[in-house]
Amino acid sequence: MQYKLADLIDTEKTEKLLGSFRDAIGIPAAIFDLEGRVIIKSRWHKICSDFHIEKEKTCRKCIESNTTLANELMEGNPFALYRCLNGLKHAAAPIVIEGEHLANAFIGQFLTEKPDLDFFSRQADEYVFDKSEYLRALSKVPVVTRDVQSFLLSFLTSLTEMLASLGIKHLRQMETEKQLKKARDKLQIQNEELSASEEELRVQNEELISSREQIEILARFPSENPNPVMRMAGDGRVLYANEAAACLLAGSKADRSDMAPQFLRNMVTEAFSTGSSAKLDIQVHDRIFSLTVAPVLDYDYVNIYGQDITDRKHMEEELLRAKQEWERTFDSVPDLIAIMDPLHRIVRANKEMARRLGLTPEQCTGRRCYECVHDSLHPPDFCPHGRTLMDGQEYTAEMYEPRLGGDFLVTTTPLRDEQGNIVGTVHVARDITERKRIEEELRRSRDQLETRVRERTADLAKAVTRLELINQELQEFAFVASHDLQEPLRKIQSFCDLVVRSNRENVDEKGQDYLLRMQKAARRMQQLLKDLLSYSRVTTQLEPFRETDLKLVVTEAAEVFELKLREENGKIQIADMLVIEADYSQMVRLFQNLISNAVKYRSRQKPMIKIYSHRDKHFCRIFVEDNGIGFDEKYLDRIFSPFQRLHGRNEYPGTGMGLAICRKIVERHGGSITANSAPEHGSTFIVTLPIKQKP
Ligand code: ADP
Repeated sequence: MQYKLADLIDTEKTEKLLGSFRDAIGIPAAIFDLEGRVIIKSRWHKICSDFHIEKEKTCRKCIESNTTLANELMEGNPFALYRCLNGLKHAAAPIVIEGEHLANAFIGQFLTEKPDLDFFSRQADEYVFDKSEYLRALSKVPVVTRDVQSFLLSFLTSLTEMLASLGIKHLRQMETEKQLKKARDKLQIQNEELSASEEELRVQNEELISSREQIEILARFPSENPNPVMRMAGDGRVLYANEAAACLLAGSKADRSDMAPQFLRNMVTEAFSTGSSAKLDIQVHDRIFSLTVAPVLDYDYVNIYGQDITDRKHMEEELLRAKQEWERTFDSVPDLIAIMDPLHRIVRANKEMARRLGLTPEQCTGRRCYECVHDSLHPPDFCPHGRTLMDGQEYTAEMYEPRLGGDFLVTTTPLRDEQGNIVGTVHVARDITERKRIEEELRRSRDQLETRVRERTADLAKAVTRLELINQELQEFAFVASHDLQEPLRKIQSFCDLVVRSNRENVDEKGQDYLLRMQKAARRMQQLLKDLLSYSRVTTQLEPFRETDLKLVVTEAAEVFELKLREENGKIQIADMLVIEADYSQMVRLFQNLISNAVKYRSRQKPMIKIYSHRDKHFCRIFVEDNGIGFDEKYLDRIFSPFQRLHGRNEYPGTGMGLAICRKIVERHGGSITANSAPEHGSTFIVTLPIKQKP
C-alpha cells in the first residue's frame, strides 16, 4: 500500500486522545511505525523520559525491548505483553488497515506487581542514576491489577480497531476523492472541449451569416451595378432594367411604356436572328456605352450588359490626338530623326530622314542604319549610336555624308524601357552644311581681316614712329625757337625802350602810340615764348620720379597767391593728401597753374578755393574747386590744347598755355586731367595720378 498511517488518521486528535488516556489512567500510550519510530505519543513516565532514555545503555535497552515487542506483533499476534529490559511492563497491538500491517499501538511503563526495589536500586547503581530520584520516579509508575491489565489490553485492542476503521474510512474517502478528482478533471476537459466546439459553432454561424449577407448582396448585384443591366423579351418588352439602364431607356419613342427604344429592339432582333452574343458601341446623349447583347434562346429573352465607356473613349481620342500630334511634329522637324534598336536597325524614321535616303518612312523601318546611310557593312568608328548603347550617355558627332548630301551633327540619346534598360536610341542628325559653309566663309574672311589688320598695324607702327620723330623734331624746334627767339626779342624791346626814353621828344604822338603798342606786343611775345619754353621743357628737362607729398606740393604752389588772395578777401583750403611717386617741381608747376586760374577767373564773390583728394585703388584723384565764373563744358576738350582760350585777352590776361602745360605734366606721369564746370557756377579741375609709377 502506498499510504502511511499518518496520512490516514487525524494525528492531532489521536494525540489528544492518548494524552487524556494518560491523564485518566496514568499510563502513557503511543503509536510506532514498523521501524520502531514514534508517530504519536502521550507524556512518558519520568523513569523512562528522565532516566532510561537519557542514558545510552538503558536507552539501547528501550529500543531493543521495542523491537522485540514489534517483532512479536509482526509474527501475526493480536497483541503482545512484555516486560522490558529496564524492568517495566508494556503491551502492544498491531494496526492493520485493509490487511496491511501499518503500525503498532502501544501502552506501557506500568508494573503488574509491587516493584522489586533491589532490582531498581541495582539498576540505579549500575547506570549511575540519582538513586533517590530514580526510586521516586519508580514510585510514580502505576501498579496495575489483573483486571486493569485486561482493561488495558481491551483498550489497546479497541484503540487499534478504532484507528484501523478510521484509517479505512479515511482511505475510502481518499480513494473517493481521488476518483472524484479524476472525474472532475475529466469533466473539466470535456467542458473545455465543449467550449471549443461551441466557439467553432459560433464561428461557423458567423460565417453562415456573412455568406448569407454575401448572397443577399449578390442578389442585389444587378440593381447595384453602376453599369446598365437589362433583360428584354424577344418582342421588345423590357423584362428587367436596373437603375443605371434608365439612361438607355430614357426618351423611348415606343408606343408602350414597357417597350424598349427602337435601337434596343433592333439589337434584340439581330441577336435572335444570329443566335449569338454581339457587342456594340452606342452613343446616348453625351454618354457612350458598350453593350453586350446575349440571347438566351430557350427562354426567349436577351440579357443586355452595358458599360459606360465615355471616359475611356475620350481618353482614347486624346491619346490618338496626341499620337497624331507627335507624328506630325516628328515628321515636320527639319532634322533627320530615327529611332534605332540595339542592332542598329531603324525602328522608325521621320519624313526628312526618309526623303534624304530616297525612301518612304515605312521603307526605312527594319533597315540597318550603317547600310542605308553609310553604305557600309559595319557601323562607322565614330558611330554615336553604338557608344550610347554601350554606356547610356548622350553622344554627338560631326560627319560628312555624301549619300545624304552634306555635313551633319549627329546626336544620340538613350531610349529606356520601364525598368531602365536601354532598348535603343533616338538618333537626330542636323544638316549643318550651310552652317559649315558660313563658318568656312567666316574663317576665310577672318583670316583676310587678320592679314589686313597686321598690315595696317605695321603701317600704323611706322606712322607712329614717324609721328614721334616729327613730334620730337617739333618739340626741339619749339624749344630752340622759343629759346633762340628770346634774344632778338629782347633786342627789339631794348631798342624800343631806348627810343621811348631818349628820343621821345623827336617822335610825334602817333609815333609814341606805335612805340607803346610795340612794347606791349613784345612783352606779350616774351610771355608766349616763356610759356612755350615751359611747355617743351615738360618733356625735355626731366626730373626723376620721387616720393612726393602732395600736401607739401599744393602748400608751396599756393604760397605764391597768398598776398593776392588776402587782398581779395579770398581763402584757400588744403586738405590732407597722399604721398605719390612724382616729379616734385612739375607737380608744383601743375598746381600753380590750376590755383592761378582759380584766382584769375574769380567771380564777383570772394574767391574760395578748395583742394582735396581721394584715393581710387592705385590712383589718387585731386580736386581743385573754385567758385569763379566757370565755363561751358562743351569747350572742355579745347581748353587743354596749347594757346586755346575761352576769354578775351582784355578781360583776363593769359597765353592759353597754362592748362596745356598741366595736361602735358599729368600725361607724363601716366595720369589724366578733366574738369566739371558751368558758367557762373565755378569749376572743379580733377587730376588723376598713379600712386606708384611703372618701373
Ligand atoms: P590762360 O589762363 O592763360 O588763358 P589756360 O590754358 O590756363 O590759359 O586756360 C585756358 C582757358 O580755360 C582760359 O582762357 C579760360 O577761358 C579757361 N579757364 C581755365 N581755368 C579756368 C577757371 N578756373 N575758371 C574758368 N575758366 C577757366
